[in-house]
Amino acid sequence: MLRIEGLTAEVEGKPILNGVDLEVPSGEVHAIMGPNGSGKSTLSYVLAGREGYVVTGGSATFNGVDILAIEPEERAAAGLFLAFQYPVELPGVGNATFLRTALNAQRRAKGESELDAMQFLKLARERMKALSMPEDMLKRGVNVGFSGGEKKRNEILQMAMLKPALAILDETDSGLDIDALKIVSDGVNAMRGPDFSALVITHYQRLLDYIVPDRVHVLISGRIVRSGGPELAQELEAQGYAAVQAAA
Ligand code: ADP
Ligand code: MG
Ligand code: MG
Repeated sequence: MLRIEGLTAEVEGKPILNGVDLEVPSGEVHAIMGPNGSGKSTLSYVLAGREGYVVTGGSATFNGVDILAIEPEERAAAGLFLAFQYPVELPGVGNATFLRTALNAQRRAKGESELDAMQFLKLARERMKALSMPEDMLKRGVNVGFSGGEKKRNEILQMAMLKPALAILDETDSGLDIDALKIVSDGVNAMRGPDFSALVITHYQRLLDYIVPDRVHVLISGRIVRSGGPELAQELEAQGYAAVQAAA
């Protein structure tokens, strides 16, 4: 379970998160919605340990582990997967190498044996087939020259290979066309089960027609002002954030 309590954070000396409280139990998918600039991406960056995002108070634990106290690489080993609005390009690093390194680091952390190149390829091919990804994407540099849809597929492939206990997906609105929506939602829905939870961050009600969340939280001005069931997303779509903010 992910438990965030009273989390405050600033960027360049400016307070952005103003006391976020949130619990995502194991096996559940929760959505965070909110207007532009409300701090959604900042929350995902803080949880990922991105440089420049300074935690000034509160806590975030995952299955009892203080995730803010450990290095970003260790967060992955602890079962967290964080995908971002703008996946990084890594020229010169082959996608297969990148994925195998990440997977083997995780396996070592769990005390499992590493996969050799053949074992890795077999697994990667299976997962890629399920995602309709062409095999040559394994040979290319990580995200280099990938289209928006290919980056999304690659992100979901990473998730499908690493099988995290908790995935945090920050989905920008402008970049998500209908194909990308389907890629992300099929990828998340395929992972759903008692040992998987996800925090899907979006501005966009439509994504939640495909990934039906167990809970919806509304983030405004760096604070969760309302939580509810999936119907809350419909209400936001109909009434806008201003009505929710006024009622909060
Ligand atoms: P959202 O994802 O909800 O649109 P963000 O977390 O991206 O919101 O941004 C929240 C606020 O933090 C905005 O006012 C934004 O301008 C500010 N902010 C985010 N990142 C930075 C940064 N690197 N430098 C300065 N201000 C930032
Ligand atoms: Mg934004
Ligand atoms: Mg954002």
